[in-house]
Amino acid sequence: MSTNCNAPTLTVGELVKLGLKGITLTILECKRCQLHENATNKVIMRGSERPKVVFIGEAPGKNEDEAGIPFCGRAGKVLDGLINYMNLDENEYAIINTVKCRPPNNRKPTQKELKTCIPFLLAQIEILNPNVIILLGNTAEQAFSVSSLDWGEAVITPEGKHLIKLYHPAALLYRRSLMEKQKEMIDMNKAMWQKIR
Ligand code: SF4
Repeated sequence: MSTNCNAPTLTVGELVKLGLKGITLTILECKRCQLHENATNKVIMRGSERPKVVFIGEAPGKNEDEAGIPFCGRAGKVLDGLINYMNLDENEYAIINTVKCRPPNNRKPTQKELKTCIPFLLAQIEILNPNVIILLGNTAEQAFSVSSLDWGEAVITPEGKHLIKLYHPAALLYRRSLMEKQKEMIDMNKAMWQKIR
């Protein structure tokens, strides 16, 4: 299986200088890891380019791969319901995944794949500059957070961002009992995005 890369490996700083459009073009050409081999579309981001809140998901699933849009399937409907519950307007949030290509059979991305793709996510976050970053599930935490967080735990990053870990919307699809807990965790932390309106 080929993992040849035909795009230069740019640092986060170099990607930031390209801006969101340049990052998108670089991702579209990217063959840095084997995940590109089965991707129908790269899944890059959706939402505002000046968000107060950024959600980080796991990896594209079947619907996302087909549409090239993050969280557009059943889990996306759950996430949209949560965003509604959080009372966020359309221009106040953005959604990004840890990796931009769908892993085969919806498996979790490997550590190596997460590490290879992470410069794109870090550059996107730096440009979007949100006040609040919400990690949706353990994979997002693994890719983005330097420390291990409990569910609903909120910390301040060295860059001064609020970082919170919530359940992945797909987990709520299969374990509806977690929904009430998710809403409690949102209620506990809502001052974070309400005070920045
Ligand atoms: S998952 Fe990321 S690093 Fe791997 S090929 Fe896709 S865009 Fe490139």
